[in-house]
Amino acid sequence: MKGLGFDIYAHAEALFPLCRSITGDGLRQTLNYIGSHIPLKVQEVASGTKVLDWEVPPEWTARSATLQTLSGQVVVDFSENNLHLLQYSRPINKIVALDELQNHLYSIPEQPDLIPYRTAYYTDTWGFCLSHRKREALSDPAYKVDIDTTVAPGSLSYGECFLPGGEPAEVLISVHCCHPSLANDNLSGIGIAIELARKIERQRRRLSYRFVFIPGTIGAITWLHFNRDAASRIQHGLVLTCAGDPAPPTYKRSRRGNSPIDRYASYVLAQEGHADRVLPFVPYGYDERQYCSPGFNLPVGCLMRSPNGTFPEYHTSADNLSFIRPEALADTQRILERILMIAEHDRTFVNVQPFGEPQLGRRGLYRPVGGQNTGDDRSEFDQMALLWILNLSDGSHSLLDIAERSGTRFEAVVAAANALRAAGLLADDHSQELRADASAAQ
Ligand code: ZN
Repeated sequence: MKGLGFDIYAHAEALFPLCRSITGDGLRQTLNYIGSHIPLKVQEVASGTKVLDWEVPPEWTARSATLQTLSGQVVVDFSENNLHLLQYSRPINKIVALDELQNHLYSIPEQPDLIPYRTAYYTDTWGFCLSHRKREALSDPAYKVDIDTTVAPGSLSYGECFLPGGEPAEVLISVHCCHPSLANDNLSGIGIAIELARKIERQRRRLSYRFVFIPGTIGAITWLHFNRDAASRIQHGLVLTCAGDPAPPTYKRSRRGNSPIDRYASYVLAQEGHADRVLPFVPYGYDERQYCSPGFNLPVGCLMRSPNGTFPEYHTSADNLSFIRPEALADTQRILERILMIAEHDRTFVNVQPFGEPQLGRRGLYRPVGGQNTGDDRSEFDQMALLWILNLSDGSHSLLDIAERSGTRFEAVVAAANALRAAGLLADDHSQELRADASAAQ
């Protein structure tokens, strides 16, 4: 299949079978795959490295895991679905009584047919995740447990794709890639980030873009530990996840609540008819928790469709390739591009002829007969947008302010502003840059 969203879906399909975790070969293979589509620098950080208040954990390798009856009938097999193995399970090979085994089984009684996704990164234990129906059918007095895994010193891998722009100010797109065979939570974000980076790479851009592909929590903490310089250049940031399910888009604000990215995202969602899906910041969720910790307090929000924990498929085997839709993936990418378009173009200008209205006709900007297409580009602009820009460009209103106040689409305001600049009626607001320099120097 071809077309909008199918290219993103194809990435999710290709990556779905891999058993990712916060470390290990599944994560590495995922980064290799991403690196085969976009320029990616992969970093390996040794286990035991101190990162902020944490430590990089040992690396987990899972080769096989089965739960069998004593007569050799396989009840649960990791090779059939990698969710079956509790992540970071330690190795074990022995016969376990059913009573004891129950302490190591994870199922969801309310969703008896689904396999849950569970992790035990920092606990010395082992376990199986299975459907509640299968669990209830266990009636033998004992079962054979065979888990072939290693938890040993190794490294944590993460990848970065940096696309420099005309200015050093950066846009951060952060995607976690530590979940195994789960499609919406996290393959949707990876697929969109790949396609977005490919597109941005080919475009002229004012801002620089940094895509980070990291294991959740520990990866963001590791990245922040080693990248304080880059972090200080982040002007706008988005965590991208749960981006392919059929629900409408959702934006979760940064801790600051009113940073430019919060305004851009809420403007776009409101325009799309989803003002009610702009959520306040809470210190829970995805890696925005780390970027928005008080010491960093970065302007990083989170773009999703269904928020984490709010959909029944969340962290279960039902979050599979049939749960995500090409059209939803494409829609998330389109919304993301609209938000970034505002980030690229929202600037403050000054009307250089502020005493009375400048004469537009003389400059070819006045359309004497509405709706007439003269073939001259400049006559295509929304006349009201021209007047609003001239009136509000006093150094204290950005183009987005003008779009909001005038009720004109931001894209139309940018087009009109470009015409006014070409006619010499708008100048850059240098006082704004001076203010930015002064605040950066503080
Ligand atoms: Zn998750």
